[in-house]
Amino acid sequence: MDGMMAQETQRQEPQEQDVLLRIRDLQVQYQVRAGTTRGVDHVDLDVYKGETLGLVGESACGKSTMGRAILRLVSEPGKIVGGQMWFNGVDLLAKSDVEMARIRGKEISMIFQDPMTSLNPLQRIDQHYIETLLTHERGLSKAQALRLAKGMFDNLGIQPERLSDYPHQLSGGMRQRVMIGLALVLNSQLVIADEPTTSLDVIVEAQILDLLKELKQQYGMTMVLISHNLGIVAELADRVAVMYAGKLVEVAPSLALFDQPLHPYTQGLLASLPNIRVEDEELHVMFGAPPDLIHPPTGCRFHPRCPRALPRCAQEEPPYRQVEGGRWTACWLYP
Ligand code: SF4
Repeated sequence: MDGMMAQETQRQEPQEQDVLLRIRDLQVQYQVRAGTTRGVDHVDLDVYKGETLGLVGESACGKSTMGRAILRLVSEPGKIVGGQMWFNGVDLLAKSDVEMARIRGKEISMIFQDPMTSLNPLQRIDQHYIETLLTHERGLSKAQALRLAKGMFDNLGIQPERLSDYPHQLSGGMRQRVMIGLALVLNSQLVIADEPTTSLDVIVEAQILDLLKELKQQYGMTMVLISHNLGIVAELADRVAVMYAGKLVEVAPSLALFDQPLHPYTQGLLASLPNIRVEDEELHVMFGAPPDLIHPPTGCRFHPRCPRALPRCAQEEPPYRQVEGGRWTACWLYP
């Protein structure tokens, strides 16, 4: 018992004052010809200051939509139709478009999947940095902005001369570094990294992950890391949030989640990961495919694929609730 109490004390759960971003009952819908797709459906999530939160799930589970919704950048025909989001106590959904544009980049920034579509091919890299800095930092001169850009290139491990290159003159890895630098140059408190290494080969991917780790330490930023790659999330995240069919199904500290996943969907995701320590391992393949979000299954959305489904699972939706310190899940196995 004493040991358990000592463990509880050591765990140091985040406190209310540690919340940087609070999301409650967030709903994002897409109106398409066939009906209404519930991309993010009644999601509650807290992001704590200084942490890296991994947001994982299969394609089209709603994780990228969540990332874009935080910045109010959901693209048409998508729309935030309900819920609340507070960033440092500021109600993001009550902000005008102009106020939101100021918050974007300066306080919350995003690293997108594909730098080639985010960088203007007709602009040199230094122009991207100068424009970003001058838009948000009033009173800064062009020369000062350029100095800051050079300092950032130093941190990114790129020769400052490359600032005068155009995006197509840089390698894929360098372009992603440039994007990371653009997200950090204003010292944003929260960085949302959406599949930041998807378009890179494994060696460059490892370099970018190391760079993200280093810069996170250096800048003390909070990061939401959106990825379908659980290996990357295991390496970087302090906590992990698992999404399935627009809903959050499990949130837990990284070690606990990878050690002992609670939700059958998380268990399936982890079982499908190869273990390099086990020879001739037979990989588990999760049965079925994610559901159609226009007509999602009744009850628990995972029930048609769940190997542990109970009779009630097809009728009643399990509530998302705390099952023990720092661990949340939505599953009738943990009533
Ligand atoms: Fe499986 Fe039922 Fe839990 Fe859903 S609620 S994950 S169907 S056991």
